[in-house]
Amino acid sequence: MPDQNLREPLRFGDIVGQELAIAVLRASLTSGRLAHAYMFRGPSGCGKATTGRVFARYLLCSEVSEGKSQEPCGQCPSCVRFSYGTHPDFFDVGKGQRTIKIEDSHQMIEDSMKKPFLASRKVFLLRDVENMTREASNALLKALEEPPPSTCFVLTSSNPAAVPDTVISRCQAVPFRPLPVKALVHIISGLRDVTPGVALEAARFAAGSVEKALLLLDAQDGACGSHTLLEEALGESPIVQAERYSHMDAEGQRQFLDSLGVDLEKCLELSLESQSEETKKGANEGNFRFYRDCLLSVMKAKRRLERNVSPFLTFAGLFFELRQLSSQEKRSE
Ligand SMILES: [Zn+2]
Repeated sequence: MPDQNLREPLRFGDIVGQELAIAVLRASLTSGRLAHAYMFRGPSGCGKATTGRVFARYLLCSEVSEGKSQEPCGQCPSCVRFSYGTHPDFFDVGKGQRTIKIEDSHQMIEDSMKKPFLASRKVFLLRDVENMTREASNALLKALEEPPPSTCFVLTSSNPAAVPDTVISRCQAVPFRPLPVKALVHIISGLRDVTPGVALEAARFAAGSVEKALLLLDAQDGACGSHTLLEEALGESPIVQAERYSHMDAEGQRQFLDSLGVDLEKCLELSLESQSEETKKGANEGNFRFYRDCLLSVMKAKRRLERNVSPFLTFAGLFFELRQLSSQEKRSE
C-alpha cells in the first residue's frame, strides 16, 4: 500500500477553499517560469503543506514536465514513487519536528547539490519556517540566494512576520486564507465519520483550520463540552486568533459568536444544576461566575460587531477578556 493518507488530495482540483493560491501556482506552472522558492503564507491548518505536496506532484510528474499533460498522470514512475512516499527527489523537511535545525539545513543543501534521480527537478517542502533556528535559516539563505539548478523550495509559514526578511524577499508569496465554514465541513466530513450537524458545529469553532476542527472532533467529551472548546480558544495568542477571526466573513464571525454563546449557556445551566448540591457549592459558584462573565464578553463582542466596530479589535478584546477571566478562575481555584 502506498505510504500516505489515501484521502490526501492528488490534484489542485481536489483542494477546496484556496482558489487564489491555486491560481498563483497554476499560473507559475503554465507560464514555464517557476520561481526557485515559494512562500505559502496563511493561518495554520488551512492546507499549506497539503497544497505543497500536491504542487510537488505537478513539479515531479514526467508527463507534466514534458508538457504532455497539465495534471499529474498518477502512473509515471515519479507519480507512483510519490504515492508510495519514496520519491528520491522529494524532501519533506521538518515533517513531524518542532523546528528545522542547522543539521537539517546542511543536509538539505547537500541533497540539493546532487542531480535529480528520477524527475527533472528536486522539490524541498519546508514546513512552518517561522520555527527554524536562526542558524538553520542563515544556512538556508545561501541556498536561496544561489539556488542549485533544477531545485524548487516550497516554504510554509503561518507567521511570516517571524521569518527573516532576507528569506521572505527571496520567495514568491502564495497567499492562503482561513478556510470558509463550508469548505471545512466538506474536508472534515471526508476525514471523519461524522453527521453533517457535528461537522458544521466543529467547523464553526475551528476558525478556518482543519487541524483545529479535527482536534475539536477528536477531543474527549468533558464534563462540559465547551470548556474544552474554550480552552482551545485560550490556547493561542489573542492577537493571532483575532487576526484569524477578523478575516472570516461577517456570517462566519456571527456564527462563531452564536455557537460560543450557546455552549456557554449550556455550561451555565450545568453549573447551576450542580450548585444545588450543597457539597460542591463553593467550587461551582466560581464556575458559574466564570461562565457568566465569559458569556457577557461574547455578548459584548456581538454588539460591537453589530455596531461596525473593527472585527480585529472586537475579537482581540474578546480573546484578551476570556484569557483574563480564565487566569482569574485558575487563581481562585
Ligand atoms: Zn506522472
